[in-house]
Amino acid sequence: MKKATISGYISNIERYTLHDGPGIRTTVFLKGCPLSCLWCSNPEMQVGYPQLAYFEERCNGCLRCIEKCPQNAISIKQNCLQVEVDFVKCNHCGECVDTCNMDALVMIGKRVSVEEIMNTVTRDKVFYQHSNGGVTISGGEPLWQSDFSGEILRRCKENQIHTAIQSCGYGTKEQIDRIIPFLDLAIIDLKHYDSSAHHKLTGKGNEDIIENIKYIDNNKIPIVIQIPLIPGFNDSEETLKNIFNFTGNLKNALGVSLLQYHTMGVPKYKHIGISYIMPSIDSLPADYLKEKIESCKKYNLPIIQFMDDYLL
Ligand code: SF4
Ligand code: SF4
Repeated sequence: MKKATISGYISNIERYTLHDGPGIRTTVFLKGCPLSCLWCSNPEMQVGYPQLAYFEERCNGCLRCIEKCPQNAISIKQNCLQVEVDFVKCNHCGECVDTCNMDALVMIGKRVSVEEIMNTVTRDKVFYQHSNGGVTISGGEPLWQSDFSGEILRRCKENQIHTAIQSCGYGTKEQIDRIIPFLDLAIIDLKHYDSSAHHKLTGKGNEDIIENIKYIDNNKIPIVIQIPLIPGFNDSEETLKNIFNFTGNLKNALGVSLLQYHTMGVPKYKHIGISYIMPSIDSLPADYLKEKIESCKKYNLPIIQFMDDYLL
């Protein structure tokens, strides 16, 4: 009997990525995440299903989409020959999308099979081999669709491809167990060492994340702890010292990776009908990240900036 094909929801696949692990990689972005970080630069990955996005600037006012919508979620915008979408009424059925010749209405996310993913990721095997690269599953959160993630990773290992996940670390042991046997590297965010501060930033405390990192460590998986630096929120001396100390006590930690805060994802919020509620942050000094990296060298742990390592 033919084995049932596992499928899942992705938003996109990016080839030739350099920031999502060592070497040249293909990154598979899955839909769905249990956290809701205030500064999230991929808000379209947070829900685990395909969702409508509306790009008002592309709309030419043909109005054909209005009658297509069974939810009456599309209407003429006041004083303007364009439409607006009521995302509270919209159930993301996608009926309106094919009506729009301007790509103003677009579905983000689609269901794909593991087979389809493998057809894409195996194309660049030669680049992985020459750069010590491979495949990274990111998101969203790889643990959110752990059957799907586990099967992609298993198939990659079958193809002698290095595997990594970029994870927020939030999930159950059962979900982790589905991917661990096929995992070469876990890149896991620790966004704050204090649980109540973590909760304020992400909507969840960090106790489960810390336990999961230790669990992955006990399973002998190499780990990189990643800190997205949010100025004024988690970049103090004390917070960084706590995270570096925690990392230093892991048996399989390769080091810490520091990411710089940016606002490139902010326009996406409007397109999917949600508000960006992160308080504004003063513009950062040009050398902010470099200075943070320098100051963290005192903790005597490797600081791993994947792109830089590749260039070296
Ligand atoms: S179909 Fe597209 S271009 Fe026409 S009104 Fe709707 S969103 Fe605008
Ligand atoms: S996705 Fe469906 S419910 Fe949402 S606006 Fe389009 S037709 Fe209406």
